[in-house]
Amino acid sequence: MTQDFSDGRLFIGGDWRKGRGAPITSVFAAEGIENQTLAGASRDDALDAIAAAGAAQQDPAWRDLKPHERATHLHRIADGIAANIDRISWIQSRDTSKTLAETRALALSAAGTFRYFAAVVETSDDLLTAPRGVYLTSSVHEPLGVVAAITPWNSPIASDAQKVAPALAAGNAVVLKPASWSPLVCLELARIIDEAGLPRGLFSVLPGSGREVGTLLVEHPGIAKVSFTGGTSTGRHLAGIAARKLMPVSLELGGKSPTIVFDDCDMDLAIAGVLFGIFSSSGQSCIAGSRLFVQRGIYDRFVERLVQATRALSVGHPFDPRTQVSSLIHADHRASVEAYVALARDEGGEVLCGGARPEGLDAGAYFLPTIIAGLDNAARTCREEIFGPVLVVMPFDDEADVIAQGNDSDYGLACGIFSNDRRKCWRVARAIRAGTVWVNTYKQFSIATPFGGDGASGMGREKGRAGLRAYQTQKSIYEDLGGQPHPWARWP
Ligand code: NAD
Repeated sequence: MTQDFSDGRLFIGGDWRKGRGAPITSVFAAEGIENQTLAGASRDDALDAIAAAGAAQQDPAWRDLKPHERATHLHRIADGIAANIDRISWIQSRDTSKTLAETRALALSAAGTFRYFAAVVETSDDLLTAPRGVYLTSSVHEPLGVVAAITPWNSPIASDAQKVAPALAAGNAVVLKPASWSPLVCLELARIIDEAGLPRGLFSVLPGSGREVGTLLVEHPGIAKVSFTGGTSTGRHLAGIAARKLMPVSLELGGKSPTIVFDDCDMDLAIAGVLFGIFSSSGQSCIAGSRLFVQRGIYDRFVERLVQATRALSVGHPFDPRTQVSSLIHADHRASVEAYVALARDEGGEVLCGGARPEGLDAGAYFLPTIIAGLDNAARTCREEIFGPVLVVMPFDDEADVIAQGNDSDYGLACGIFSNDRRKCWRVARAIRAGTVWVNTYKQFSIATPFGGDGASGMGREKGRAGLRAYQTQKSIYEDLGGQPHPWARWP
């Protein structure tokens, strides 16, 4: 498939123009080649985008639109994404080295997200509340203003849509800052949004440096909310700035999620769940099931089968439909994964499979699916997010033991449980600290279901009907019905 990328211009305040910041380069790491180098956004570009967004958000052409009218904009964007699925998935696969099957699913999910929030905004009600006097009280939901959406490189179009769709549906303007490693698909989204006829200035895309452009967005008084997805240390830093500004911030951060396999599980189901949970997306997933706990009674048998199945995974080019595990996004990221595997060895871990680059794929940033045993949950390998195809496996004795080990983590994003005992699954699901728990499955998603993490995995929830409310503020209005002057205010 041959297609072009964008012409290198950014979408700033409704204009397509060259960025004025440092160059950023998108690479196709699967082949070790450059896709495109473009001038990133500068601080001045960000200031232009914020000013245009503020004006567009306040313009009656947007501000006074009824919810069902805003919904039509979202439907048009969804239509634009759906009509461009092949192009979007190709660009995103080139940008991130993910398989075409995965990027196609991500693009379809982005279209679904716009449709979902179109439906939510059209069907969400304001409140009439119980009065304690002769008045009518309503509580209405209003937009916050200009929202900065800051996103990571691992699933760009889907994570962008999860912020842009509810923020626009709620009546805000959005300035999107994607990660420097994956600028291209976000510019494609900008093209689609522009062609869908969204009022000028309401949406900008500023690929550029996190420290420069990202920090400016978070600090700027014209930004009313930051919705961030990315690493925990970046999220902490941004939350500090937001706290000083007293600005709402939602944080979707990292994870080190436990998958728990009890000895009464359906083993085929569990093996498939574990494989998909950690090795799909080459492990570059916040919800990757990267810590595996297997009950002692089946530990040896299960791990042996799991290693066999892992060795059988097809590692290869993202455009080969047989590929299950593709290249990592960037050679620098593979170096970081390799450093973690070296650390695991230093900590006394035994590499049961993988632990190296595959043969015959030298040009790309590939790394074999890797399983490490022999470590304790206290090891750094078991505590820090590796964000690659690396699984640590540990035994456990009973329910209490695995709940204690599973919860012994700074993170609280996700968890998988495999057992045929539904009551036990329910007890463990309730006892584990995680924003999402999968029972006898893993990595299933619905836009209708809230998503987010606790502890070092973040705060706030995206998706679901309440996902719209995260981009609104409430105003309560008391309207007198009695027609009598207030008795306190007596005058002669
Ligand atoms: P990152 O934190 O390095 O970057 C995320 C975004 O923040 C990028 O756009 C980056 O440019 C920007 N940024 C960096 N420094 C900044 C600063 N000082 N001020 C403002 N913006 C700044 O994360 P990454 O490496 O791009 O992505 C991987 C991380 O994202 C992993 O930790 C992963 O777990 C996490 N993630 C979380 C979720 C979730 O929903 N919980 C989803 C996907 C990824």
